[in-house]
Amino acid sequence: MTILEIRIVGDPVLRTPATEVTTFGPELARLVADMTETMDAVDGAGLAAPQIGVGLRVFTYRVDGHDGHVVNPVLEVGGPEDLSASEGCLSVPGLGYRLPRHGWARVTGADVNGEPLVVEGEGMLARCLQHETDHLDGRLYIDRLRGADKKDALGKIRTSRYNDVAAKTRSKRAPAVDSSFGGGTFGVGR
Ligand code: ZN
Repeated sequence: MTILEIRIVGDPVLRTPATEVTTFGPELARLVADMTETMDAVDGAGLAAPQIGVGLRVFTYRVDGHDGHVVNPVLEVGGPEDLSASEGCLSVPGLGYRLPRHGWARVTGADVNGEPLVVEGEGMLARCLQHETDHLDGRLYIDRLRGADKKDALGKIRTSRYNDVAAKTRSKRAPAVDSSFGGGTFGVGR
């Protein structure tokens, strides 16, 4: 397995809607294994394929004791609005905001072998399912911010200081990238 470089905001791949997976086989299995290893190396709660530069509708997750992957997820949401948690993103390092999300979510899709799969949850898991499906549509959580938070996030990303944050994040993650020895936990993003 391989730890892959996580793309940072500004990379066009993060803004490009991903395409449906149509071929289930060893290549897809390897992608899911590499994404899981990459997510775990940075202690991430979830990782979508565009974040490692692959435009396919696949994400991995590890939240509150739930972990796995979903191929071609279709999202349903409901429940009361959840404002209880701060949200961050491995592709937007150093920032976090309280973003309202639906309190319940379910994705229906397939596993790596093409077998039907359903993941359903509340709270952080519901937030993660919504966040990762957004990535597959070319959307970042900061796009959903409003008012002062949105202004703050966009302002911070536009400054040269944020370029330093992004560069530092890349170099911190770099020792783990492509290393068969795996990586440490950097606690960046969330
Ligand atoms: Zn993200």
